[in-house]
Amino acid sequence: MAVPPSVELLSFRRTFTRLILLVVLPSAGLLAFGIVGIVNERAAVEKRIEVLWTGRLATAQNELADAFADAQVRSTSPTLVLQRGSLQLTDVGFTVSAGEVVCEDPRITAALKPLDVELMSLPERPVIFSITSPQGTFLVAALRRGQKVIGAQVSAKAVQTLLQNIGDHLTPPGEEGTFMLVPVKRSSPAEGMVARLAEAREAALGDRELAGLLMPLPLQDFRLVVVTTGADPVAAASTRNRWIYSVLLGLFYITLALGVIFTGRTLYREARLSRLKTDFVSLVSHELRTPLTSIRMFIEMLALGRVKDPVEMQTVLDLLSKETARLSGMIESVLDWSRIESGKKQYRRERLPTTDLVDAAVNAFKAQRIDAPFDLQLTLAPNLGEIEVDRDALSGALLNLLQNAWKYSREGDKRIELRGIVDDDFVVLEVEDHGVGIPRREQKRIFDRFYRVDSLLTRDTEGSGLGLSIAQRIVQAHDGWISVDSVPGRGSTFRIHLPLVQ
Ligand code: ADP
Repeated sequence: MAVPPSVELLSFRRTFTRLILLVVLPSAGLLAFGIVGIVNERAAVEKRIEVLWTGRLATAQNELADAFADAQVRSTSPTLVLQRGSLQLTDVGFTVSAGEVVCEDPRITAALKPLDVELMSLPERPVIFSITSPQGTFLVAALRRGQKVIGAQVSAKAVQTLLQNIGDHLTPPGEEGTFMLVPVKRSSPAEGMVARLAEAREAALGDRELAGLLMPLPLQDFRLVVVTTGADPVAAASTRNRWIYSVLLGLFYITLALGVIFTGRTLYREARLSRLKTDFVSLVSHELRTPLTSIRMFIEMLALGRVKDPVEMQTVLDLLSKETARLSGMIESVLDWSRIESGKKQYRRERLPTTDLVDAAVNAFKAQRIDAPFDLQLTLAPNLGEIEVDRDALSGALLNLLQNAWKYSREGDKRIELRGIVDDDFVVLEVEDHGVGIPRREQKRIFDRFYRVDSLLTRDTEGSGLGLSIAQRIVQAHDGWISVDSVPGRGSTFRIHLPLVQ
């Protein structure tokens, strides 16, 4: 039958759930806030950089327009040649007359063809403007001579040189950006997955555009943009911030997790201890009440003169003495434990042969089990050396192991082996039984105060859960330790390791 959780454990669970909620909810909020913060911060940095460069782009646009306005006609035959200072601005030339376009570049011919009527309204001085067609977008210079228009494509190299000069004095030291004139994309957005992927790839691999401005008429088919050539300034700033945030967040969560684990463990231990204490109080009261009831009953029998036969009288007296011994044993172990817990326990150490200690424990054990069946095998190495210990305290610890071996063995198989061996500078006293054994996960906990393995046999066996805890404290106070090996259903072996005196 499943045992319902105790009040302490329920309240532990409630407190722990509240603690987790109190910690997890704000921290989830913090995490979300941080992520939003990082995204916003990146957008803010991008915006700031864009505003900064947009101002410079506006100046660059004006300077480019001025440079185009400054262009001088160097030649008009056979086509137009423009130059600014020593820089030639035009390359492939063209002529348009009587609706016919003559140009060696068929793409320019195709782009100019639909414009032959408008071209005839050009002024008689050079004008630079943009044209666009499915074949491409071009920057051209042209002027009208009567019914004939002569012109040329504005050289991309010349534009690049002009923009470079402009960029050089507009870009403050420490910042990187290249001005470029790029055609405005008028095509419909890429259709189909493959086209969209190709576009995304191009955008990812190409230079990062920091800002852009549409060119004013008549250059409206181009945008003046500034791109980064070096490291992406936004990425650098936000990568650094993201790193700092991630590291801080990681540290925060590690600390939080440790805190939660630690608090959970402490709370759990406290809840368990409190339950153990409650169990202990009811157990001690029960254990004290049983011998007390028998004692009162026997005393009443004697007082009322009901026992007359001397043999019967002897039996009653024996029972009385046994119950009293049980009572005082119980009280003794509670007092022992409280002395050890409060650090008031004093040990009177004396140097003695290990065998003395074994004898003291074995004799006490035999005296206690005088009428109970058991089979104690003693195997001691020839020379067990000497130890410096409190005889009573340590023989009590060994006696407790013998008592447990007896208590937790099934009726009819109370075989106990007590072995003494020397291992380097230590003597090892080993108590082996063939009893119920102890499950692996319980083996450490049985040394905790008040702890008892929950089994049918334990419930039926008298005990306080203090014996091993006291034994361990005593052995540790003598610079030794207790270990246990056990297989459930097969038996247990407890070992006391004590340092030998040389
Ligand atoms: P108790 O008074 O309950 O015997 P102990 O501290 O001596 O207290 O032991 C703690 C628990 O360890 C016991 O309740 C029992 O469940 C388990 N235990 C101790 N010794 C043995 C053993 N030899 N075999 C099986 N279980 C044992």
